[in-house]
Amino acid sequence: MKSLLLLLAAAAGTLFGQERPVVLKTSTLYDGKGNTLHNSIIVVQGSKIARIGGPVPANAITYDLTALAVTPGWIDTHAHIVNHFDNHNRLAGSDEPASQASWHIAENLVATLNAGFTTIQSPGANEDKDLRDAVARGVIPGPRILTSLQALDEKSGDAARMRELVRERKQQGADFIKLFASKSIREGGQITVSQAQVDAVCGEARSLGLRTMVHAHSPESARAASLAGCASVEHGAYLTDDVFDFLAERGTEYDPNIGLVLQNYLETKRSYFGIGNYNEEGFAFMEKGVTITLETFKKALKHRNLKIVYGTDANAGAHGQNYREFIVRVRDGGQDPMQALISATSLSAQSLNLGKEIGAIEAGMQADIVGFDGDPLKDVYAASRAVFVMKGGKVYENAAKGSKPGWR
Ligand SMILES: [Zn+2]
Repeated sequence: MKSLLLLLAAAAGTLFGQERPVVLKTSTLYDGKGNTLHNSIIVVQGSKIARIGGPVPANAITYDLTALAVTPGWIDTHAHIVNHFDNHNRLAGSDEPASQASWHIAENLVATLNAGFTTIQSPGANEDKDLRDAVARGVIPGPRILTSLQALDEKSGDAARMRELVRERKQQGADFIKLFASKSIREGGQITVSQAQVDAVCGEARSLGLRTMVHAHSPESARAASLAGCASVEHGAYLTDDVFDFLAERGTEYDPNIGLVLQNYLETKRSYFGIGNYNEEGFAFMEKGVTITLETFKKALKHRNLKIVYGTDANAGAHGQNYREFIVRVRDGGQDPMQALISATSLSAQSLNLGKEIGAIEAGMQADIVGFDGDPLKDVYAASRAVFVMKGGKVYENAAKGSKPGWR
C-alpha cells in the first residue's frame, strides 16, 4: 500500500512537472557573457537553469563535467538547415523524393545539435516551418529553429507589394524576414534593390515586431539596409571602414560568415558544380572570397562598437561543422576567443530577441549547456569537440567519457 502511494506520488510529481533536479558539476564554466566561473555547479529544474552554485539538492541526477569546458549552447544566426546532398551526393533539387529529403534534413538537425548548436536561425525556406514545429514538439532531436520562410528579393515587387509580402510572411508564421539586397559573391555582390524597396521591407517588418536580415555584399547595399533600420547585414564581403562605422553607429549587426560557407563549397565542389551559378566562374570568385571575407572581418574587428553576430551560412554539406567559424575567426582573423564565444552565445541570442531566454548560463535561462573536450578559449580546435549537449534541460549527447575526433 505504501509503495503504491509512493508510486502515485511519483506519477503526480512528473505530471506536475516536478522532475528530479539535474546537477552539472563543472570546473571551468564560461557563462556566455564574458565571465568565467571555477568549480561551480549548475542546478537544472525541468527545462530551465534554477541556480548556479549553492548546495547540491537532495535526489538530484548528477553529471560530472569537471573534465570539460562548459559554455551555453551555441547559436548560429544563419544556417540553411534544410539544404543537403541527395542520395547521389549532389545538391538536392525539387526532383528528390520527399521521403529521402526528410531523412537528410533530420541528419542535418542531429549533426548541428551534436556539435553544440542548440539554436539556429534559418533564412529562406518554406519547409522550415514544419521542421521548426516538429523540433519544438520534441519528435526529432535538433536545434531550436527560427525561420524567415521564403526570402524576398528585388523581383518580389515594388515597395507596396513588398509590404504586403512582409505581412503575408508574418501570417504564415515567419519569425523574421530575409531580404536579398545584393547579388551573390559568385556574381560580384552588387546592390540589386532600391532604397524604397529596402525601406518598405524593414519598415513594415519593424512595425509588425519582426527583424529583417539582409543579404548584402556591397557597401551600397549594406548602407541601404542600415539606413532602413534592418536588423543585420549578412556576408558583407566588400564592406569598407566607413560602412562599418555607419553600422556600428546605428546598431546594425554584421554577420561575416568567414569560416565555413565558402570553404565547404570548395571542399564539396563536385556536389554543387553545374547547378545555377555554381560554375567555374562562380567557384573562382568563391576561392578569392575566402581571403576577401577574412580581410573584411579583420577590418571590422577594429570597430569596437560594431555588433558582430555568429552566423555561418551553413549550406548543404556544412551542417554540424558550424564551429569552424569560431576557429577561423580566432586562428586566422585574430578575434579574441572570449569575444568570439560571446558572439556565438549571448550576443547572437540578443540579436534573435532571445537574450532573456538563451545564450547565457544564468538562473532563469533555458538549460542549453554544452561541454567541450578541451577548452576552446585555449585551444580553438576544442570547439569541434562538443561531447556533452543539453538543450532545454534534456541531454542529447553525453560522450564525456569518450572523446570525439576533432577537426583541423
Ligand atoms: Zn545564406
